[in-house]
Amino acid sequence: MHLYYHIPFCHRICPYCSFYKHTLGSTDLTEFVDALIKETAYYVDKTDNKVSTLYMGGGTPSMLSPKLLERLFKGLHQVLDLSEAQEICFEANPATFTATKVQLFKDLGISRVSLGIQSFSDRVLKILGREHTRTQAIESVEILQAVGIPQVNIDLMFAVPGQPFSEWEDTLRTAISLNPHHISSYNLTYEEDTEFIEKLTRGEFQESEENNADYFRLSHDLLTSAGFIHYETSNYSKPGFASRHNMSYWKGKDYIGIGPSAVGTLHGQRYRNIPDTAKYLQMIQSLGHAKHEIETIDAEAYRLERIALLLRTQEGLDKKWLNEEGLQQVELLQNEGLIKITGENIQLINEGPLLVDPIVERLI
Ligand code: SF4
Repeated sequence: MHLYYHIPFCHRICPYCSFYKHTLGSTDLTEFVDALIKETAYYVDKTDNKVSTLYMGGGTPSMLSPKLLERLFKGLHQVLDLSEAQEICFEANPATFTATKVQLFKDLGISRVSLGIQSFSDRVLKILGREHTRTQAIESVEILQAVGIPQVNIDLMFAVPGQPFSEWEDTLRTAISLNPHHISSYNLTYEEDTEFIEKLTRGEFQESEENNADYFRLSHDLLTSAGFIHYETSNYSKPGFASRHNMSYWKGKDYIGIGPSAVGTLHGQRYRNIPDTAKYLQMIQSLGHAKHEIETIDAEAYRLERIALLLRTQEGLDKKWLNEEGLQQVELLQNEGLIKITGENIQLINEGPLLVDPIVERLI
């Protein structure tokens, strides 16, 4: 089983972020941690307790104190069998942990830490409203490596308003020089209900698809030359260090979402938990779950998702997922030099990864 935990607390809110998150306010964190354990037990009853991958994201999971982390993992071990887990990943923000806390991560069995660095430029970090500096970001990677966390990922973001290519290049080169196992390189997107989209609408920020493509190419060229495998549109890893949790999601495996706003898919049904921490706690208390929206993923919806997600991966898409119109498009896309066909498998090539969204539209 694959599990995702949403820990929605942040010290402050970044102006581009659309995840469900909030400052701590009056939340009782002990009650919150106990609710996560109780909700986990609810799902264990419906599936099994053997964990393949577990991912704690947010929000800022590294805001949980050592005492609460111990309480959370102790509780999870009581309901889950983590003995054969292939990956236990934990998101953290730079400057939210010390070496002592990282030692605890390691002792708790956390095998991968994903660091939300976004940029190594203090100027860009300020635009993004991030709390940390370039120096703190570098120190944070070094702490994780010194303690011996088995896998470190660095999250980066490009196409930030006013970010010159030279700054993006310096960010990539700095990340590479730190020798992480994995780098995620995301194109900034303007999401609803964020300060950034308001600024875009008012004309204070501009978006350029052409520039986005140039940032993307630079990421691809520098990272692959440094030995990273470009295994998904936004993800690069050293050989053998692709994110197992995300791969299972892209491949359409069931996964269980725990915590406010978390999404899960189980036995053909997709649910979304209530995106409100106070109500989440009440629902867990009274029902054991916090499912707020439920939809059935029928065969057609599942097929469309496979096309949209597998095409983004280096493994590519099996033709079996395409209908007749999709197969006709495959020939055209091949003539346009955007895809490669090997037997029954389709992979994006050349400018294909840049055009993944319009290509998906043509195939579905
Ligand atoms: S980007 Fe991360 S740290 Fe910033 S508000 Fe969103 S979840 Fe919190």
